[in-house]
Amino acid sequence: MRMKMGTLLGALLLLTVFFAGCSAPTGGQTSAGSQAAQSQPAKLTVKMLDVGQGDAILIETGEQTVLVDTSDLDEREKLKAELKEAGVTKIDKVILTHPHADHIGGMDVLLADFKVGEVYDNGMPSTSKIYIRYMKELKNQGIKRHGLKAGEVLELGGGAVFKVLAPAEELVAKGTKQGYKHDPNNESVIGQLVFGDFKMMFTGDAEGPEEKEVLAAMPGADLRSQVLKAGHHGSKTSSSKEWLRALEPETGLISCGEGNDYGHPHKETLKKYQALKMKVYETDKNGTITLISDGKSYEVKVEKGEVQ
Ligand SMILES: [Zn+2]
Repeated sequence: MRMKMGTLLGALLLLTVFFAGCSAPTGGQTSAGSQAAQSQPAKLTVKMLDVGQGDAILIETGEQTVLVDTSDLDEREKLKAELKEAGVTKIDKVILTHPHADHIGGMDVLLADFKVGEVYDNGMPSTSKIYIRYMKELKNQGIKRHGLKAGEVLELGGGAVFKVLAPAEELVAKGTKQGYKHDPNNESVIGQLVFGDFKMMFTGDAEGPEEKEVLAAMPGADLRSQVLKAGHHGSKTSSSKEWLRALEPETGLISCGEGNDYGHPHKETLKKYQALKMKVYETDKNGTITLISDGKSYEVKVEKGEVQ
């Protein structure tokens, strides 16, 4: 009996020591593990690169480097310089929103000068020469290409994900058939970048019709995003009232060239943004726009100019 009591007491003592060792540090004490976490907090960086009239947005999660669109054909050297300045040599994922030249124009430079992991697009073929040329090069280099569909989620590492909201599967099914009359802007990949509480909506050149399709496909869905990549370079054909109402963005990022032929961003769009008291950043006025988030809040830095 005595022996048994001793064993029981010993076991209790061991358990106490075990749980004391497991308890969370209190009163300002920090364990070695959390000190390491404090010195290297998880961080997400999004850079809207200054590539003139086109889109190229760099996402760095600490684990992966992702590029959404690749600038226009004429701006390829600028893209290369911007990526080199950002210290990029390898791009794990390239997401191409749609096959217009101002979005896929830099693909040959990327494939020639950078190590590309995988390419994602809207899954629909194009007759564009640039498209045909880089698709051939993807095959040459054995790089995988994947067509994105609404509902898919891309893991970007470091806890960041890209939730695909468009194109819908039905559209891709129609769009892959020969003879289909494409409306590339409204077939853009739309996706929400999510990192903790931080959310940013990527839109390519999606206009009102595609924005409405997304809203109709998921009624009542929580699409709120602190940051909106303005659709179609701030065109008045994008950023519909319904879309803005659903997203409730605080910040708008616009990629457009200084004195561009299209008059982007349009006054009508800027007025809508102002009405919502959004902070608006434009690559034509602010150069490369850098956004840094810790998963809770975010800060925006610009190369130059005033912010509206
Ligand atoms: Zn465009």
